[in-house]
Amino acid sequence: MAASLEGATETLARVFGFPGFRGRQAQVVARVLSAQSTLAVMPTGAGKSLTYQLPAVLLPGTCVVVSPLIALMHDQLRSAEANGIRAATLTSADGEDYREAAIDRFRAGELDLLYVAPERASQGHFRQLLASSPVSLFAIDEAHCVSEWGHDFRPDYRLLRQLLDRFPEVPRLALTATADAHTRADILAQLGIPEEGLIVAGFDRPNIRYAITPRDNPGRQLAQLLAEKPGPGIVYAQTRAGVERLAASLGKGGRAVLPYHAGLDPAVRARNQAAFVASEDMVMVATVAFGMGIDKPDVRFVAHAGLPKSIEGYYQETGRAGRDGDPAQALMLWGAEDFARARMRLAEVDDARRAGERTRLAALGALVETGGCRRAVLLRHFGESPPEACGNCDNCLNPPPSVDASVTAQKYLSAVARTGQNFGAGYVESVLTGQSTERSMTNGHEGLSVFGIVDGAEAALLKPVGRALMVRGALLPTEHGGLMLGPAARAILKGEEALALVAPPARERSARGRRRE
Ligand code: ADP
Ligand code: ZN
Repeated sequence: MAASLEGATETLARVFGFPGFRGRQAQVVARVLSAQSTLAVMPTGAGKSLTYQLPAVLLPGTCVVVSPLIALMHDQLRSAEANGIRAATLTSADGEDYREAAIDRFRAGELDLLYVAPERASQGHFRQLLASSPVSLFAIDEAHCVSEWGHDFRPDYRLLRQLLDRFPEVPRLALTATADAHTRADILAQLGIPEEGLIVAGFDRPNIRYAITPRDNPGRQLAQLLAEKPGPGIVYAQTRAGVERLAASLGKGGRAVLPYHAGLDPAVRARNQAAFVASEDMVMVATVAFGMGIDKPDVRFVAHAGLPKSIEGYYQETGRAGRDGDPAQALMLWGAEDFARARMRLAEVDDARRAGERTRLAALGALVETGGCRRAVLLRHFGESPPEACGNCDNCLNPPPSVDASVTAQKYLSAVARTGQNFGAGYVESVLTGQSTERSMTNGHEGLSVFGIVDGAEAALLKPVGRALMVRGALLPTEHGGLMLGPAARAILKGEEALALVAPPARERSARGRRRE
């Protein structure tokens, strides 16, 4: 194996012009060269194509590449041919003459690479074609398409297994940039790759400093970020209206601020984007539509005004900061209502997708709630084994002490139960702190045992406790914006489960006057 990897390094330089392997490419290539099936999970741009193109050159026979997009295949074909690799595609977009020539070249053993779409690959006559000449490797690109857990399931990918199993001696290399733990396990099972064949790498962005904090006054919190961080930045808002509102308020701070969302005239959108790309100090307030395919390496910060859709989305969006390798900041503001809204949406998705969506939301909850290293949570999510602390996130720089808020949580849940599970957080808190109002009198809530059972320092815990209960699903939103008990409430009420708070209110209150890191 060592010998073949040595040969690989020589070919890497001669054919591809690269002085060495990047990240864990060498590990993937070594496995492939020793005919071990592998699933490589690496972010976009990490250099996944090389991990099958290089073995394709080195191994006798043809490497068959299954790829879901014709445009992508033709890009790959061009770059392979530019390196002098013998390659061809078999797609509906290729003319019949081209396809016949490609088949002839394959049969004659004159191809290193043959790209094919999954719907063709799963057909019987393609199987027969492959039996006519040696195959060195099956590379399955965008392998998450084989999993219903992924976000891009394609039934044709499921049929590939038949083809693969017809050639049991040919190793399989599955490649993807996006695969959470479930999707990864599914890919391994669906494509018959052993568990030890999983290689995940290259997700860390060490120059990005992650900070995640509850949203109390987003206009002020973001204005502070803008005041502290010079250089280009992106602020993501959840809705078009939110974009307009934030752009207007942040624009008053003296920096150039532009909006970007799908509701803007295309000409305005293009103009704003061009201005941002050219600028050295501009802030773009945008929906997540902004940023895809934009090449701006010097973005100094990415802020989220609300909870992103998933950890994958968050990582992709924050990943637009600091591509030049210089220090960059990622700031996320979140609120209990973000989780409330996400849970309402859960109720609307069809049953097949709900479990996946719920898992995605729970992963976000764990990220925002953790008192530990944010980077460690993120990288573990992508299957890496990072150190416990990174030294470059809010919690590593300023470790939050943990307080046991289980009793306060029980009082909170009791108050929601006793008041009939249809009042909002503000009212529940006023009952707990014993504020006598016309409403509490007419509702007869002043006679409840929970009326006024919270005071002093404990009162400051109520907001963060309410948020934490919402994140865990111990509280759920009602249709009318009230709170009701969720499935996780029982264990907390019975004292079977503790609720530790990592962001104590003292820090939250004093953060107002204090400068952020
Ligand atoms: P992915 O498919 O993972 O998104 P690509 O295979 O398109 O990534 O590679 C991204 C870029 O990295 C390409 O421009 C490729 O030429 C380059 N690249 C790949 N491997 C190496 C390497 N070992 N050294 C330098 N550049 C590399
Ligand atoms: Zn950290």
